[in-house]
Amino acid sequence: MPRNDLDAAWMPFTANRSFKAAPRLLSRADGMLYWTPEGREVLDATAGLWCVNAGHNRRQITEAITRTATSLDFAPTFQMGHPLMFEAASRIAGVTPPGLDRIFFTNSGSESADTALKIALAYHRANGQPQRTMLIGRERGYHGINFGGLSVGGIGANRKQFGPLLGNVDHLPHTHLPSNRFARFQPEHGVELADALTGLVQLHGADSIAAVIVEPVAGSTGVLVPPVGYLEKLRALCDEHGILLIFDEVITGFGRLGTPFAAERFGVTPDLLTMAKGLTNAAVPMGAVAASEAIYRTVVENAPPGIELFHGYTYSGHPLACAAAIATLDIHRDEELPARARAIEPEWREAVHSLRDRPGVVDIRDAGLIAGIELEPFAGRPAERAARIMQHCFDNGLLIRTTADTIALSPPLILERTHIDRIVTTLGEAISAATA
Ligand code: PMP
Repeated sequence: MPRNDLDAAWMPFTANRSFKAAPRLLSRADGMLYWTPEGREVLDATAGLWCVNAGHNRRQITEAITRTATSLDFAPTFQMGHPLMFEAASRIAGVTPPGLDRIFFTNSGSESADTALKIALAYHRANGQPQRTMLIGRERGYHGINFGGLSVGGIGANRKQFGPLLGNVDHLPHTHLPSNRFARFQPEHGVELADALTGLVQLHGADSIAAVIVEPVAGSTGVLVPPVGYLEKLRALCDEHGILLIFDEVITGFGRLGTPFAAERFGVTPDLLTMAKGLTNAAVPMGAVAASEAIYRTVVENAPPGIELFHGYTYSGHPLACAAAIATLDIHRDEELPARARAIEPEWREAVHSLRDRPGVVDIRDAGLIAGIELEPFAGRPAERAARIMQHCFDNGLLIRTTADTIALSPPLILERTHIDRIVTTLGEAISAATA
């Protein structure tokens, strides 16, 4: 590729200078695999960016997109509509947890987070409590990069370039405890961390807090799985104090934890649930927020005549995305993808935990078809060990992700035993090869 082609693009979340000196490029994909422009095969252990849950280039999805593109390229959804949007919404409502049946379309996870926060604020205002404006996130939380999600998010590096962000925000502590090292699925210790919400209620006053937003399993900050009882406790405290609970299911949605949404796996239902990624199998961008009936009714029925929620995107409910979502949900239903993920989860867990004795591995965490392998950084050089492992894997035909010094794995849900073996063998060799 000519050098000037690489130069024009300012790449997201990328060390542009070093990347452009040695670019890693993918130009084709199918099933569990990518290929580089030179034709080298790369096994996808990350489902793209935690999003291609049904595997790559599914014909049913690409054909639905093509069909729609040639019949309805675009239709506005402000004061107008098109049939695919209503069909997609009702299909999504068919897989969201019971009671979360009102679907608002966005185009990404970040937009879904900001939309959910705004709906929470609008709800309290419509409910006669306009003073409830405080938003509570969590340390090490990731809710995208728009101002709302960034403000409730808890990743210092993502925030510090951009000034004070939203005021009136506070954070719960994260749930990563050293005593839980090498836990399998939900760790035992840490339910009491949810009590920090009581502390924030005492500090700020219960009637000032609008919502708490958490990822059921925090993905981007290194796979943090909620301790046993933790989400239940958050739910109970929110109920007690009239605070809305928002689950950011952008990663955990669409079968990744062996159930359509993590809410079901953990037996805890939020008031608002955000989704994106797996919703269209990532073939075209789309996100959505599922809201409870009570929230929808309060906002819509208490509003004066006319528009009830002053919010929306030009591409909310885009026809191509709706077609992709419907086709994706067909695949999830027909191939029983959540159940398939659940069935292979024990083998996956054993395989990833078999890496615990490799050099530099200090913790391994897993939830559904997600795993995080935390490494001791080389002295004084954070993230370098993980970056070297990632490059070694890529050179040897395996795509993994790293977040600081944690390796994150989230393969497509169509994963089979042979893929698990390949992932663990290549990754194990890469970990062993990475010495200071
Ligand atoms: N929320 C969570 C939990 C995520 O993991 C992500 C993306 N990794 C987002 C929000 C943001 O999604 P997007 O990049 O589509 O804006």
